[in-house]
Amino acid sequence: TTVLGIETSCDDTGCAVVNSEATILGEFLHSQNEIHVKYGGVNPINAWELHRDNIELAVNTALDDARIGVNDIDAIAVTTKPGLLLSLMIGVKYTNFLAKKYQKPIIPVHHMEAHALVVRIYYNIPFPYLALLISGGHCFLTVVNDVNDFLLIGQTLDNAPGEVMDKAARRMKLKNMHEYSLTSGGKAIELAAKNATNPSLFEFPIPLQRNRDCDFSFSGLKDSLVRKVIKKESEHGLMGDEIIPEVYDLCASFQTSITKHLAHRLERAIKFCEVKNLLNKNAKNIVVSGGVASNDYIFTNLKSVVNHLGYNLYRPPHKVCTDNGIMIAWNGIEKTRKGIKTCQFISQSDVDPTAPLGVNIIDQVKEANISVKSPRFSD
Ligand code: ATP
Ligand code: FE
Repeated sequence: TTVLGIETSCDDTGCAVVNSEATILGEFLHSQNEIHVKYGGVNPINAWELHRDNIELAVNTALDDARIGVNDIDAIAVTTKPGLLLSLMIGVKYTNFLAKKYQKPIIPVHHMEAHALVVRIYYNIPFPYLALLISGGHCFLTVVNDVNDFLLIGQTLDNAPGEVMDKAARRMKLKNMHEYSLTSGGKAIELAAKNATNPSLFEFPIPLQRNRDCDFSFSGLKDSLVRKVIKKESEHGLMGDEIIPEVYDLCASFQTSITKHLAHRLERAIKFCEVKNLLNKNAKNIVVSGGVASNDYIFTNLKSVVNHLGYNLYRPPHKVCTDNGIMIAWNGIEKTRKGIKTCQFISQSDVDPTAPLGVNIIDQVKEANISVKSPRFSD
């Protein structure tokens, strides 16, 4: 089986061709990041125009890369939820057009489920497994029981970690320092933190320490960072585009606090799954995915926490952690293998910008009332 995957949920037009041997035959990604950075964030109208102008090119380039045509594929997988409505509709409409013209079945895909499953292209990770999804718009802890069977055990109460890192990078004016902030604030912070000489110079309170659940909160960390920047700017008498001299240490402290918060919730999630017997007894695997998972500092430290508890931690390759067409095509392959029903047309009412993930059992997590000591990694 060969599937064409189309992803247009946010600001990247991603297309890929993947087969059932888990071989990526072709791929293409048109990123809008640099354009959005100029305007200080993703503008839905801008994103829609860019998807509209690039969708045909993106599909054709991925197919050319695979040296095949639409006739040679067995199905088209497309993201239908969650994401920006106008952006999603570009991918959906183009898929409807191709499906009708070439008589191909359509496989609708949930963007966050695709983030959670794509790791299986690269590693043999059997169901069920625990996945931490950390990205620009979401933060989820989920038990992946099967291709189309997810349990939600934790989510963010406010912002997503990637969103907070993007805003923090902008406030620290990191784009004046190196080009990476043009494509991702998270990457800019990761690079800046490497130059820190005193990574514990700044103190951030770890969020939700007293809540015995697996939920997240990142807005307090962002506010705290902004206050620290303002304080330092005024101490140094800085104005305009000048960067505070402590920026490297600030990035390191901020990144560490985000990692500690993630580790704290992840550890409780593992314990909850053990108490409720939710994970695979023979394969002690945990997965982390989404754009923020491409951060090596965050990954390495989460890995050491997870290893300490007797599990392995896996993630897709860096460029497959962030948005891409590969994960959508792969989701199509996994659904085809399972024999999940396809369709011939996707109507606008099937497109859901705010779709939740899985069956919500967060109340059970709260009831279980599991205590976890402060995250056990040191830097
Ligand atoms: P969602 O998947 O929630 O719909 P999205 O699709 O916009 O959101 P992704 O492409 O999965 O998000 O991830 C983008 C986010 O990942 C951005 O917020 C970006 O700052 C963050 N990110 C990318 N690289 C890194 C990194 N090295 N460290 C931390 N964050 C990073
Ligand atoms: Fe994403």
